[in-house]
Order: sequence, then structure tokens, then C-alpha cells
Amino acid sequence: MVETDFDVIVIGAGGAGLAAASEATARGARVLPLEAGARTGGSTRLSGGVFWASNTSLQKKAGIEDNPDDQFHY
Ligand SMILES: Cc1cc2nc3c(=O)[nH]c(=O)nc-3n(C[C@H](O)[C@H](O)[C@H](O)COP(=O)(O)OP(=O)(O)OC[C@H]3O[C@@H](n4cnc5c(N)ncnc54)[C@H](O)[C@@H]3O)c2cc1C
Repeated sequence: MVETDFDVIVIGAGGAGLAAASEATARGARVLPLEAGARTGGSTRLSGGVFWASNTSLQKKAGIEDNPDDQFHY
């Protein structure tokens, strides 16, 4: 039997969509993720996995001055 009743429908199964689907599932929702591509992952699948941050404790320790505005403009 095909399921047709869902609490949450997530359009796109990249990082954001899969995170939303996972969180909604963990909270007990019946979730339908829909992906237009031939496989899941989107650009997230290609990501280098680098996290951007500014004005961090590591930067401060290294004497590097940074702030969120500069990060945004870069
Ligand atoms: C080569 C590369 C390297 C990167 N490296 C980094 C990095 O090191 N650090 C970093 O922070 N970011 C990086 N990024 C950026 C990061 O990967 C993306 O910003 C992030 O993955 C986007 O996630 P998303 O879930 O919003 O989109 P995506 O992961 O692209 O997911 C969107 C999904 O929605 C699907 N979709 C679109 N339209 C529809 C529709 N109408 N119906 C159904 N499905 C649909 C797409 O097919 C896709 O699967 C990189 C990007 C690339 C391309």
C-alpha cells in the first residue's frame, strides 16, 4: 500500500532537507522527503566540510582580528 498521509513534506534531500527530515522524524512526525535529483545529497555531497566562523577563541589566541561583518563581505 502506498502511504499518502504525512505531517511534514521536505522538498530537496540535501543537507538542509535531510537535517529537517531527520529532526521532524525524531519528533515523531511522518515525513516525506522529495528529491528531484537522481540521488540524494545535493551540493552537500560535494562540500569540503569546512565550517566558517569569525572572531573565534582560536583566532584571538593567534592574535588574528576578525569579525562577522568582514566574514560576510568576504
Ligand atoms: C564543491 C563544493 C564545495 C563546498 N564546500 C563547502 C565547505 O567546505 N563548507 C561549507 O560550509 N560549504 C561548502 N559548500 C557549500 C555547501 O555545500 C552548500 O551551501 C550546502 O550544501 C547547501 O545545502 P542545501 O541543503 O541548502 O542544498 P543542497 O545540498 O544543494 O540540497 C538541495 C537539494 O534540493 C534538490 N532540489 C532542488 N529543487 C528541487 C525541487 N523542486 N524538488 C525536489 N528537490 C529539489 C536538489 O536536487 C538538491 O538535492 C560547497 C559547495 C560545493 C559545490
